[in-house]
Amino acid sequence: MSHTHHAGRHFLQIPGPTNVPDRVLRAIDQPTIDHRGPAFGAMGRDLLADLRKIFQTAGPVVIYPASGTGAWEAALTNTLSPGDSVLMCRTGWFATLWNDMASRLGLTPIFLDTDWRRGADPAAIGEALSGDAQHRIKAVCVVHNETSTGCTSRIDEVRAAIDAAGHPALLLVDTISSLASIDYRHDEWKVDVTVAGSQKGLMLPPGLSFNAVSAKALVAAEQAKLPRSYWDWRPMLEANKTGYFPYTPGTNLLFGLHAAVQMLLEEGLSNVFARHDRHAEATRRAVRAWGLEIQCADPRHYSSSLTAVRLPPGHSADALRATILDKFNMSLGNGLGILKDRVFRIGHLGDFGDLQLLGTLGGVEMGLRAAGVPHRSGGVQAAIDYLAGNA
Ligand SMILES: *Cc1c(COP(=O)(O)O)cnc(C)c1O
Repeated sequence: MSHTHHAGRHFLQIPGPTNVPDRVLRAIDQPTIDHRGPAFGAMGRDLLADLRKIFQTAGPVVIYPASGTGAWEAALTNTLSPGDSVLMCRTGWFATLWNDMASRLGLTPIFLDTDWRRGADPAAIGEALSGDAQHRIKAVCVVHNETSTGCTSRIDEVRAAIDAAGHPALLLVDTISSLASIDYRHDEWKVDVTVAGSQKGLMLPPGLSFNAVSAKALVAAEQAKLPRSYWDWRPMLEANKTGYFPYTPGTNLLFGLHAAVQMLLEEGLSNVFARHDRHAEATRRAVRAWGLEIQCADPRHYSSSLTAVRLPPGHSADALRATILDKFNMSLGNGLGILKDRVFRIGHLGDFGDLQLLGTLGGVEMGLRAAGVPHRSGGVQAAIDYLAGNA
């Protein structure tokens, strides 16, 4: 934290937690109520019904008072048994962490690695499944939007590859940084467990996470042998039928979630996605105008939630971020894993408008100059030209 005094609001442009809109803050700022009382039950029923629309599912969505990591664990422990093989697409840092968790839980991961510059490879998934005639692979795990690289995997194509192989594996997808930012269809893509979190596209503070659950996943949960208690879907789904929870829920975060879901539905999901696509395109135009390189090397996998930007060789992304925080009071995302100090990440997801984007890009451009990173000026102008021409 810088000790310099800064007037004006801090720009929190990491790719999550994102800026929390005032309407959500106001909704959270209420007296906590009895989570077994009638007012809570009415709110819970309403919320659990509307939440399904955000996942584009008609099935249940489980809410945990936990960060996204908890919902990863829930997805694995509810559906799998010790020693089960799981096909894990290691597309970046978050996929790697999920893989590590699978190993610690006693699963047997089979890795499909990428160069961290694109999404999961559907052909490689299809090949691995076709070679598994005994159906030892019980699940395919994919991170929809890899937040460490700014690459989005094509879940529709992953689904098609699984179907083409005629393989019964479950499909588990992490949408922690894509839900409510990038089009995502739990039912249409026949995803079995969708993992999500509160602090990114859903515009809430950290502290809630989610599992959207298919009928096939519910059947798998009856057979799964990994130990589970706190994360067990079954008591949760039973209590949720009447709008309640088996243990104390994050009551005030749920007030906020209720408001956030209403905001998203009022804007309309297709408009929300188009807004994110537009801001991402404007950001990429700025990066190209600066003469810098986008980490994602395949335009079909460009992320609409964030853009990871590579520094020229010999320049430190962390030094740039430190300069920008110190001089302009803006936080940008750091490079993770093999990308440490190599990239910085611009978050453009959540409650975000054109002028916030231009302020963000302005801070980056001034920071590049202040930190002595070789670049051309004119990135902000390129973004303005695109936004103004695509209002
Ligand atoms: C943020 C993030 C996580 C981690 O979630 P926590 O809430 O920090 O536990 C996992 N996966 C992806 C893709 C993320 O963006």
